[in-house]
Amino acid sequence: MPINLPETSQKRIVVIGAGFAGLTFLNKVKKLDYQLVLLDRNNYHQFQPLFYQVAMAGLEPSSISFPVRKAYQGCDNVFIRVAEVERIDPGEKKIYTNMGYVNYDILILAHGATTNFFGNKELEERTYGLKSVSESLSLRNAILLDYERALTERDYETRQGLIDIVIVGGGPTGVELAGALAEMKSYILPKDYRELNNQEVDIYLVQSGDHLLQGMSEKSSKTARNFLEKMGVHVLTGVRVTGYDGAYVSMNNGAKIRADKVIWAAGICGNETPGLKEESVGRGRRLIVDRYHRVEGHEDIYAVGDIAYMDEEKFPHGHPQVAQVAIQQAANLARNFKKKKARPFSYKDKGSMATIGRNKAVVDLTSFSFTGFMAWIVWLFVHLFALIGVKNKLFVFINWLWNYFTYDQSLRIILRAKETK
Ligand SMILES: Cc1cc2nc3c(=O)[nH]c(=O)nc-3n(C[C@H](O)[C@H](O)[C@H](O)COP(=O)(O)OP(=O)(O)OC[C@H]3O[C@@H](n4cnc5c(N)ncnc54)[C@H](O)[C@@H]3O)c2cc1C
Repeated sequence: MPINLPETSQKRIVVIGAGFAGLTFLNKVKKLDYQLVLLDRNNYHQFQPLFYQVAMAGLEPSSISFPVRKAYQGCDNVFIRVAEVERIDPGEKKIYTNMGYVNYDILILAHGATTNFFGNKELEERTYGLKSVSESLSLRNAILLDYERALTERDYETRQGLIDIVIVGGGPTGVELAGALAEMKSYILPKDYRELNNQEVDIYLVQSGDHLLQGMSEKSSKTARNFLEKMGVHVLTGVRVTGYDGAYVSMNNGAKIRADKVIWAAGICGNETPGLKEESVGRGRRLIVDRYHRVEGHEDIYAVGDIAYMDEEKFPHGHPQVAQVAIQQAANLARNFKKKKARPFSYKDKGSMATIGRNKAVVDLTSFSFTGFMAWIVWLFVHLFALIGVKNKLFVFINWLWNYFTYDQSLRIILRAKETK
């Protein structure tokens, strides 16, 4: 059955994904003479860079999510359908979803990326990912519940398992998580869980490469490691996690770490796009596109953001999967719909950054790097301005101010959805 949508003489552009790429594209073409249909499995946009703060009880999920219907109130040619895309039929120009199918004239794929477990089912089933608001909440609950359980546990080994955490992957997500956990250990545990000895809480950050924050400067990488080690994080580099049986993390050097919680932040791959030709799908399940964002081997299908893989001289292995790339690609594609002469995409790298904790961050700009308090302020403001919604910006800012001055996070509540019978 087709999904109910108004019939019109306008051409229909369907956008899959309400992330940075999908929304940037829609915002820039919404005044053009097209019927615009947005499909997403959620009715909200998620600001992924702050997932880790939701997981650490520093922010509420609603502060980093934005309801997409609100963004298009008053746009009569924009139609939103909350649906899980299951398959595309490029021959018939149809998108099949769990709610029915949708016909398209032009299709924009902006459905992003997911956690890559590199085919290891054991890790996929037993570790925590951080690719959605619900995963962040589930990690928050697990951390808080395990502290609660640790209070009642008499056996030392079992208690250690409950309070120790292993983070796999030393990219920005792993580093930011490790820093936030170390702050929780120093500032929150002694107040909330006085009976637990916070010196016994071990946080491990395991990175298979020989340094943290690969892709950033050597200065930033070394500074991040120094910051983390001073905060008490055990940073293990050049070691690969090979398995996790639910109690012990195994590594390729034969070592094992006891931990009931393992967070997997070691890689991403494109979300699946069944129905497209095999030749369109490249490394990391990203869709191969030309410099005009057209998916290889397909008419009228474009891909932007994390899902797209484009070769550019300066980026021979594809662009980094970050928000700025998604925004710039979507803006260029929208521009090409508006102008007669299409412009090939070229990424303007504005730099990269990561925060480790209060007053501690690293920033690489194109010509120089800086670290410490100034870098932290820059990190805060860049993230604050990138958030969608004035209310969200305000709430996040107030939360950050509160946390900064009180050394506290006020959101340590274990909320569990009631299962229906
Ligand atoms: C924990 C974390 C931290 C990050 N930190 C940073 C950072 O500090 N700086 C930075 O620049 N970048 C960061 N990133 C990366 C950045 O968030 C992504 O590059 C960016 O979100 C990509 O935007 P996108 O629009 O391509 O995809 P997304 O934002 O992932 O949006 C994809 C959308 O598609 C929807 N979707 C997917 N599959 C389907 C389907 N089958 N059916 C229906 N809907 C579907 C999803 O619900 C989602 O709304 C981080 C990412 C993570 C996970």
